[in-house]
Amino acid sequence: MNYFEIRELPGKGRAMIATKNFAVDEIIFEEEPFVSHQFSWNIAYGYAACDHCMRPLETLLENVRRLANNQAVMVPLVEHDPTAAWFSQFTQCARCKVRYCSEDCLVEAQKRYHRVACMGAFRADDTHPINVLNETWKKMHYPPETGTIMLIVRLMAMYKQSSNKTEFLEQLQSFQALIVNREEKIYHKMLGENFEQQMEQLYAAFCNAFKDEEFAMFTTPDAFKTLMGILGTNSQGIATSVLAQWVNKVSDLPLSDADKESLDKVIDQLYAKVGDFAGEFLNNEGSGLYILQSKINHSCVPNAQSTFPYSNDIVVLKALAPIQKGDEICISYLDDCQLERSRHSRHKTLRENYIFVCQCPKCRAQASDPDITSDEEEDDDEDMDDCEEDNME
Ligand SMILES: [Zn+2]
Ligand SMILES: [Zn+2]
Ligand SMILES: [Zn+2]
Repeated sequence: MNYFEIRELPGKGRAMIATKNFAVDEIIFEEEPFVSHQFSWNIAYGYAACDHCMRPLETLLENVRRLANNQAVMVPLVEHDPTAAWFSQFTQCARCKVRYCSEDCLVEAQKRYHRVACMGAFRADDTHPINVLNETWKKMHYPPETGTIMLIVRLMAMYKQSSNKTEFLEQLQSFQALIVNREEKIYHKMLGENFEQQMEQLYAAFCNAFKDEEFAMFTTPDAFKTLMGILGTNSQGIATSVLAQWVNKVSDLPLSDADKESLDKVIDQLYAKVGDFAGEFLNNEGSGLYILQSKINHSCVPNAQSTFPYSNDIVVLKALAPIQKGDEICISYLDDCQLERSRHSRHKTLRENYIFVCQCPKCRAQASDPDITSDEEEDDDEDMDDCEEDNME
């Protein structure tokens, strides 16, 4: 039972409206993605995640040692390693050897897309058209990653395997609402300065990988641009980490103040060690499309937040503030750091990334603020490290 409805609001379009009151921290809904995929470079660098749900596939020690590039690093309290509970369930596709956290994920992947998507022995063949497409993408989109063409590859496999293609296409189309005719900005954002030329290369590689007649409706130039637009405007970042999950677990242990203090010190040292080698790239990272979650509008004063408490791709929407029956439920498309910036800076980011002008209460209240981006904010890109928020809950 869901306690919200999706409604058209005059002058605003589609919105999610609460149909009961929610208290702070109350769960509004949980949702599995329509499709998700780990980022291409993230996979290439050996970040180990379930090919279906992105749950980490390393023990805590393996994770920390790989991230620190040091096999001697020790971790205390390994009895709280969150992977210990799942480790015996790890499995893989017998044909292509992609790995899963459980038989359930393998079966679900087979059922929805992997019968088609499985590349068998060709998984390691650089000349396979899917690998060529992925490499073409990787050369255009270096870390930090915000998307992957492999999400579109998975969508194609889902389409081919789907027993109800009309329903699949309707669901896919439900992601299009954000796309108006300023798509170029999105491509620019995803592919950088030479996006026109890169779009052409990517499109050629895409057509080569999906030559079959049954994909004809996706391989027109317009359809490809639409798929890229969906990827650019609707995808939600997903980050999973066995280290972060372990930190959450041990931080909740009933310890004496002295023990807590020394544990905090150990955790800080661990993060310093992994940070020295892996930098900001600590997590398994990917993105997904969520049918419900993508219907939620942005506000610079959000009353809800998307969280990933299970360390997989299931999104849990939680109330950040009390929500009354009849209120619109909003999340922020900006991170905490971006939210603190001036109205002008927020609007610039939202316009470039999501193609809309924010009319939230905060923006309306600041409507008379001067339209300048302060020097401090112009310089922010260099200081972003200070602001990087971990996605983990
Ligand atoms: Zn899984
Ligand atoms: Zn396979
Ligand atoms: Zn706003």
